[in-house]
Amino acid sequence: MIIKGLIKTTFVDYPGKIACTIFLFGCNMRCGFCHNPDLVIDPTGKKYESKTYTEEEILGFLEKRKNYLDGVCITGGEPLLSLKIDFLRKIKQIKNKSNSNYSIKIDTNGTFPNKLREIINEGLVDYIAMDIKGSKEKYKDIVSFPVDMDKIEESIRLISSFPQYEFRTTFLHRFHDENEIKKIMEWLKGLTQNIGKSDNNNPNINNNPNINNNPNINNNPNINNNPNINNNPNINNNPNINNNINKNNINKDNKLLNYYLQGFRKSDKLMDESFFSEKEVKNSNLIESQRIASEYFTNVGIRV
Ligand code: SF4
Repeated sequence: MIIKGLIKTTFVDYPGKIACTIFLFGCNMRCGFCHNPDLVIDPTGKKYESKTYTEEEILGFLEKRKNYLDGVCITGGEPLLSLKIDFLRKIKQIKNKSNSNYSIKIDTNGTFPNKLREIINEGLVDYIAMDIKGSKEKYKDIVSFPVDMDKIEESIRLISSFPQYEFRTTFLHRFHDENEIKKIMEWLKGLTQNIGKSDNNNPNINNNPNINNNPNINNNPNINNNPNINNNPNINNNPNINNNINKNNINKDNKLLNYYLQGFRKSDKLMDESFFSEKEVKNSNLIESQRIASEYFTNVGIRV
C-alpha cells in the first residue's frame, strides 16, 4: 500500500462530513479521461522517490485531528487494489473526545468485491462510492482494459444493499448520451431489483453484516432484545428485519439510493492525451440525464 497523497480537510469528498482524503497509488483500469494518471501508473518508475506518506504519519495526523474531522475518505487510483485492512482497523480504533471513531468512505471501481465484502463484514466502512463507467456493453471501451464484469456486477449488488452509498458516472460525449444513461439505469435496476423486497433468497441481505450497524434495525426492540440475532444465519426469516430494510434503508420507494453525474472536465494531466480535445459536457445533457436517473434513484445529483 503506497499512500501518495493527503488532503487534510475536505467539505465535499464525504457527503455531510468534514473529512480528509487519502490517495492510494495504483489502479487496474486505464480510463483515458482519468484525472489522476500519476496515481495509476508511474511512467518514470520513480514512484518511491516522490512524496509518499507512511501509515504511521497518516495515523498520527488522524490522531491529532480526531476532534475536528468526522470522516476519512480513501481513494486512488483504485484503493482496494492495495488497501491494508489492518490500516482501516487502526483508523477505527482512534476515538475522539465524544468516544466516536472516524467514519470511513471508500471509493472503488468495483473490481474487488471480495475485499469490499471483507471490509463490510468487519464494519470498517461507512460509505461506499462506486464508479459506473457506462453500460455493461460499453465498459471495456471506456476503461481501456479487460474487465471482469461478473466482479463489477457483484460489487453493484453488494453496495446497493449497504446503508450508505452512491453510484456515479463521469459523462463524456464520446461514450455517453441520454440513451446510454438509460441503459446504465436499466442494467442497475435489473441487478438490484430484488434487493429490499421481502426476499429471503436475496444473497445481499443474507450475507449483509450491515444489518447489525443499521440504526433502523438497531433501534428496533424486537431485534435488540433477541440475543441470538447477530449470529443467527436465519436472520432473513425475521420479518422485523425485512420490513426495516424495505421501509427505511435499501430501496426507499423501490429505488436505489444516491447517483451522481459528473460532467467530464479537462485537467492539466489526463491518462490519454486524446481526451484534451474532448468537448466539455453541456448542462442540458446532464439535466436530461438527471431526469432519467431520477426514475431509478431516490437522490440524483450533478457534480461540476
Ligand atoms: S478514473 Fe479509471 S484509471 Fe483513473 S483511478 Fe479511476 S478507475 Fe483508475
